[in-house]
Amino acid sequence: MSEPSVFTRILRGEIPSEIVAESERAFVIRDIAPKAPVHLLVIPKTEAYRDVVELAAGDPSLLAELVELARDAAAAHSDGDFRLVFNTGAGAGQTVFHVHAHVLAGGLEEASLGA
Ligand code: AMP
Repeated sequence: MSEPSVFTRILRGEIPSEIVAESERAFVIRDIAPKAPVHLLVIPKTEAYRDVVELAAGDPSLLAELVELARDAAAAHSDGDFRLVFNTGAGAGQTVFHVHAHVLAGGLEEASLGA
């Protein structure tokens, strides 16, 4: 068995982080190192999918649920407009291999495309 991901450990309450929104199958936290005025992470409760490609193939309805949570989080924390980023693969900057979406919002003019 591999070690639980940092996000699973947050979900279990083993690592401190405020869960700012939640659905049956996913949750939202603030990124610990924000790259935009609003930088949230939308994360499935399961860590069965390492990236968005696996998630889309394995459970497209869960991917759709992440997008809905992202929309709601952007509306709650900013003006409703947002950038949704899935870093996919280490070469693209992915560091946590438990699929998650970065929601970037609020004054994005200065923000680069990288999350
Ligand atoms: P990625 O590099 O796309 O895999 O994204 C992982 C993200 O998780 C990074 O933006 C980190 O800043 C963020 N992160 C790592 N540990 C924590 C934590 N304990 N609480 C909140 N965000 C975290």
